[in-house]
Amino acid sequence: MDDLRRDYAFLADGPHAVTHDEPFFSGALSFCRRRYARDLAGADVAVIGVPHDTAVTNRPGARFGPRAIRAASTNLAWSRAWPSAFDPFQRLAVVDWGDVALLPGHPDRNPLRIERAIAAVLQAGARALILGGDHFVSYPALRAHAARHGPLGLIQFDAHTDTWPGEGDIDHGTMFHHAVREGLIDPARSIQIGIRTTNDEPMGIEIRDAITVHETPLAETVAAIRARAAGPCYLSFDIDCLDPAFAPGTGTPVVGGLSTHQALAILRGLAGLDIRGADVVEVSPPYDVAEITALAGATVALQLLCLFAEAPAC
Ligand code: MN
Ligand code: MN
Repeated sequence: MDDLRRDYAFLADGPHAVTHDEPFFSGALSFCRRRYARDLAGADVAVIGVPHDTAVTNRPGARFGPRAIRAASTNLAWSRAWPSAFDPFQRLAVVDWGDVALLPGHPDRNPLRIERAIAAVLQAGARALILGGDHFVSYPALRAHAARHGPLGLIQFDAHTDTWPGEGDIDHGTMFHHAVREGLIDPARSIQIGIRTTNDEPMGIEIRDAITVHETPLAETVAAIRARAAGPCYLSFDIDCLDPAFAPGTGTPVVGGLSTHQALAILRGLAGLDIRGADVVEVSPPYDVAEITALAGATVALQLLCLFAEAPAC
């Protein structure tokens, strides 16, 4: 390749291009140096940013999450995903779709804009890997996925259940209450991992709290998820599932959470599950330190791509 031809976000030779030689510190940013594309012909996965943070109940800043995750992903783009036995970018045609264009002056219009953008990805036959954004974005994402696939099992990594009833409003702590009520999620096939807040309204979803994860072998948590999430499912990774030591840059941190090692080990154990779509949410760069949280989010996102590569065709 011509030595001057980097900026693979624009210039890569297709979705399988090897982009390992672009320096970490330079170049236009896309997720793991994948090429930007809106034409999804032939694409298996579209990485799509949703810079939305107007549904938070505490600290904002997750609107900067997609950009920070893309920047941190340059740290991961120089070699094959470790410790995966394969390169997800060789197995899957992955493009970066860019960000959903949101309207600061019309926040009421944004949920439908998010849903339609993700629906367009699914209609093109690609899976969506969504970079939030606050956790509310999972709600329009689930609407798009359920419209295509029917009710889905939910595998949720989080410190919070996000099934609080609220006052009928839909924010980043109530959206899964509404998703269950609307039939987007099948609670009998859903499980939450890493929870460390009290909620008397679990909506029928199994909870495997952080203490249980810490006090049992990780293989038992993996087995619990695999037993529960049979059939088509959606995986949502709220970065506050991780302990604030491992993810300080988030809106509603809770101590006692998972380490990055624990979370990645559990995710690796989910290979082969029928995961139709996934998101990484609640990365809030203004509260981050040394890009710890953005790098954790990018690494989780790359692990989710490996799970897409090992999922059954859909
Ligand atoms: Mn949370
Ligand atoms: Mn959450």
